[in-house]
Amino acid sequence: MSPRGPVVVLDGPAGSGKSTVAKALARVLGVPHLDTGAIYRSVALYMYQHGIPAEDSDELRRALEEIVIEMRDERVFLCGLDVTEEIRTPKVDSLVSGYAAIPSVRRALLGFQRDQARHGVVAEGRDMGSVVFPDADVKIFLTASPEERARRRHLQRISAGVQSDYDEVLREVQERDRLDTQRECSPLQVDPGAFVLDTTGLSLDQVVETLEKEVGMRLGKGA
Ligand code: C5P
Repeated sequence: MSPRGPVVVLDGPAGSGKSTVAKALARVLGVPHLDTGAIYRSVALYMYQHGIPAEDSDELRRALEEIVIEMRDERVFLCGLDVTEEIRTPKVDSLVSGYAAIPSVRRALLGFQRDQARHGVVAEGRDMGSVVFPDADVKIFLTASPEERARRRHLQRISAGVQSDYDEVLREVQERDRLDTQRECSPLQVDPGAFVLDTTGLSLDQVVETLEKEVGMRLGKGA
């Protein structure tokens, strides 16, 4: 383990429960929580607002130099504006994987993500273990069936007062899985050293309990 605090990474597909679990683990370990999906979402929102399409171009690379993203107390700021809610809309859901597949976008965000881990971190995303933090102290891969993940998203939207159709959400989840696993640059994949947990049918408490034990054991061994 590093002397600054542990680096724990969670990768997995949309709706696998990474965010809730990552926040809980970060609290237990006393390190910051880093939601890298929120960073890609902020980039997608910025490009959408500026009418810049999801393809590599001079315009897109210039925009990447202008974007300023800040993360404080679980709020996300894009060029000084709080976009925490806006980056979670179905519009951004549908756009984000297109921008995330562009190598220049991923390159531009690499240093920023690593900077956030100076004092240890629990970082969640798609390529945390494979690309961003290959030397992480603990690597976890969370998954669940597409139907279960769609059901969770559907219920989240309904409880947030957003109109939602389960079949539509399932199609979105499957499409995002397809884009995130089949892209050439940093695809979603299970890192060979990762602890894999299928959360289908498990409660949040069961998932957190299982992971706390596993992380404790792995950090203990590495210390
Ligand atoms: O985790 P979340 O669902 O918010 O991520 C939104 C999207 O951002 C993913 O579907 C993926 O396309 C992209 N992403 C990524 N690499 C990461 C985190 C997110 O490509 N490390």
